[in-house]
Amino acid sequence: MTERAQIVIIGGGVIGCAIAYNLALSGADDVMILEQSYLASGSTGRCGAGVRQQWGTRMNCILSRESVRRFETLNDTLDYPGDIEFKQRGYLMVAHSQKEWDQFQENLKLQNELGIPSQALSPQEATEIVPILNTEGLLGATFCPTDGHCNPFYVTDAYAQAARRLGVQIRTQCQVTGIDVKQGKIRGVQTEDGYISTPIVINAAGAFSQHVAVMAEVEIPVYSERHQILATEPVAPTLDPMVISLSRHIYCQQVPHGSFLMGLGDPDELKSTDTGHSWQFLHNIARHVTELLPPLGELRMVRQWSGSYNISPDSQPILGKGGPEGFFLACGFSGHGFMIAPVVGEALAALVLGEEPPVRISQLDLGRFARGDLIREPSVV
Ligand SMILES: Cc1cc2nc3c(=O)[nH]c(=O)nc-3n(C[C@H](O)[C@H](O)[C@H](O)COP(=O)(O)OP(=O)(O)OC[C@H]3O[C@@H](n4cnc5c(N)ncnc54)[C@H](O)[C@@H]3O)c2cc1C
Repeated sequence: MTERAQIVIIGGGVIGCAIAYNLALSGADDVMILEQSYLASGSTGRCGAGVRQQWGTRMNCILSRESVRRFETLNDTLDYPGDIEFKQRGYLMVAHSQKEWDQFQENLKLQNELGIPSQALSPQEATEIVPILNTEGLLGATFCPTDGHCNPFYVTDAYAQAARRLGVQIRTQCQVTGIDVKQGKIRGVQTEDGYISTPIVINAAGAFSQHVAVMAEVEIPVYSERHQILATEPVAPTLDPMVISLSRHIYCQQVPHGSFLMGLGDPDELKSTDTGHSWQFLHNIARHVTELLPPLGELRMVRQWSGSYNISPDSQPILGKGGPEGFFLACGFSGHGFMIAPVVGEALAALVLGEEPPVRISQLDLGRFARGDLIREPSVV
């Protein structure tokens, strides 16, 4: 007998799980998540899980501000028996060039106008928040106290558990190998375990979204790029906020159990879904992080891993319809998909059900690339 679902979501990362929960909450029946490995096994479980509202476009400020509001109450909203560990210890964004500092002033105006409580700090004031910060060459910093950090496994688990309670079926170790399209419409998906008939497929396949799109006969302009990350031995609390330098492509934070987590954007990284790691990364990150936060040079590293950014031509997500009737895209999140997942989940669910999304996402459609309406976000890491 052919299996059926009303809606199939490909990908059990934070995005797929947030969409599934919101679909079921809005009354959709027979929603199914198909995940080729385990939940959060992709970029979600490999990410820094930082949450910041300090952006340079109205759209990203609103997506992240609204997501922060959701994160603040997510344990209760999802009736989660655990804790997503949302710690609002702020983000300190440092500026080392006049161009960067001028841009930060522009960003601050926009953020404050939208109710985001970020502020400008002198180098001296920045060291009151981060005493281990090296102020050499520092022009200033911005700080938002309500930015923060979560545990990405628990956030995904919280959405997945709530979705299951609302009737969503979640199948792990189930890879989608094909999408059945006939006369311009989605008919079903082929998995390793058999065929599932469905009129709606949501592509939330993260680093593999371009391959999944091809299965539905659509080409989407995204590629995957490896990003590496490092964890040190746990030590006593030393660093409250996330420290981030956009011009040096580096971020560093101390997580609740005491380890420092740090990552680096490297333009020479592999453009693929490879999740290996390199000694060059260790060399580069050690050099950059000890320039910024010198005492970290004393720490021993304990672990190194990598995940993928799925990157579109403007480094902003692609959300909405694409290709055959019934095919939806939720991909291309670059390095900031985790922090906007709560609102993306709501917005995508609304779009699929023909309802009004809680925030405007129409400018993130696939068609913007053909129209030349790319989004100019100056604060991408
Ligand atoms: C090192 C690093 C640091 C980051 N730091 C941050 C940060 O601090 N803050 C932030 O907001 N974002 C950060 N990101 C980005 C963030 O991780 C992603 O944007 C986000 O996790 C995307 O979630 P997703 O659910 O779309 O993708 P994923 O978590 O990758 O989920 C997609 C899932 O689809 C599954 N899948 C793929 N193909 C198939 C198939 N054919 N069949 C079935 N299943 C399939 C995969 O197994 C995977 O589990 C970081 C990313 C990396 C790599």
